[in-house]
Amino acid sequence: MLTKKLTREYDNFIENLFFLTEQNHINFFKASNLRKKNISQIVELENTKPKQDPSISNYDYADFLDDFNQLYDQIEYQDKSLWLPSNANFIYLMSLYENFLSQTIKLLIKHDKHIQEKYMQKYQGDAEELNKKGNRELIKDIRNTQKCIENIDLLTIPQYKKYINHLLGLHHKDPAYLKHNNFYIEARERSNLFKHRGTEIDDKFEKSLTENLASEGDKNNKYSKKLIKFARTFSRPLRKKWIGGKKGCEHKRDKKSGCVNCSAKFKTPIGRDLSVNPSYFEHSASTIFFLSSVIYRTAFNIANKNSKDQPNLNKEHDFMCKMGIDFNRLSGYVIPLQINTYSRNHLQFKPDDVENVNYFLCTNNILERKLDLKLKTAKINDIKDDKEISVLTKSRDHFFQNINDNNIKDIVTSYIKKNYEDYLSLGLKVANRKTHLADWFMTKDLLKSTKFKKLFKQLNNS
Ligand SMILES: [Zn+2]
Repeated sequence: MLTKKLTREYDNFIENLFFLTEQNHINFFKASNLRKKNISQIVELENTKPKQDPSISNYDYADFLDDFNQLYDQIEYQDKSLWLPSNANFIYLMSLYENFLSQTIKLLIKHDKHIQEKYMQKYQGDAEELNKKGNRELIKDIRNTQKCIENIDLLTIPQYKKYINHLLGLHHKDPAYLKHNNFYIEARERSNLFKHRGTEIDDKFEKSLTENLASEGDKNNKYSKKLIKFARTFSRPLRKKWIGGKKGCEHKRDKKSGCVNCSAKFKTPIGRDLSVNPSYFEHSASTIFFLSSVIYRTAFNIANKNSKDQPNLNKEHDFMCKMGIDFNRLSGYVIPLQINTYSRNHLQFKPDDVENVNYFLCTNNILERKLDLKLKTAKINDIKDDKEISVLTKSRDHFFQNINDNNIKDIVTSYIKKNYEDYLSLGLKVANRKTHLADWFMTKDLLKSTKFKKLFKQLNNS
């Protein structure tokens, strides 16, 4: 069945996305620990810096320089061991996403008659257009539908996107979609840069980004200016290298940043490096999670004309657990809500109890974070009048009201009130097994408390 096949594609893709995000997070901790260690090593070495009088110490300046250079090389190497895998994971994530898109669209064209007609019409038009220019690449297969479908992989990215938009009818002007689509275009430009020209930001990157965004309706280059600024702000300096000096000299560093044998200087060149750091990776993974979820739901909606199947929305719950609880990121709650808003406005979609609980939890978490922040800076009365807070509160209560099952409402209430005993006994009735209960977002969140952890351990493993 088409809906099942679509779900399988989506599930596989998201599992890989989570896996790469997890790896990225491990790298994130490695990076910050290494940085701390490196700084203390440099400080330590600076303290042993010998006086330049050989009669006082036999640990002379040359030895010190050797040690210093060795430490410097070691730090360079460690640094590389962090950004190189991040760049690799990023490029692979982009490829996996393109593959997911291609598989999803091909499934729809193959198995949905209406979509196939739409596709073949557009294909024929484009093929004839190309043929007039002497290019027979598309028209030669026109009598073989199967081949025409495979040929979607021959299209250039802008053409390809036009097909996807034409067939799926994505809503480009939806604010969240627009934002993520723009982020995605920037990410694609960045991975193109890595693949063809290295990691240093160049004119071609800026020009191509501006053109691509303009072709998607970016008036007066409003977004491209913002995105170029964003890319530059979160970039890093280029790595130091030897500049000038004598040709053929195997430069060796002296006590400053010059070469002992010639006039070359070892310094940071002008320019910025767009290598992926852990937070940029998370940012692009979140954007791709939004886009792939919206595309999956749209495709599911098209395929699901006559039955009442529900798309698989467990991945949103997993996203909340990973990004929200494990990594403590606001995006863990913002993205699922954006997906819901898009679905509610543009797709035939009615959240069930499980989704309403998810969206309730997302709004509740955002609200709690905002309140914490406000409490540190404002007075209680200001908070009562705060518009953002009141909108969030209303929206949270709305999701709660939409939960039909009273048992689930009680579980949610006991979670909010941190009534651990009630939560466990009520939760176990619905989850049936302890291991199932352990998978819930609410349980994972409560497990942060030692008291709850104790109670949960004591629970009979039924
Ligand atoms: Zn030299």
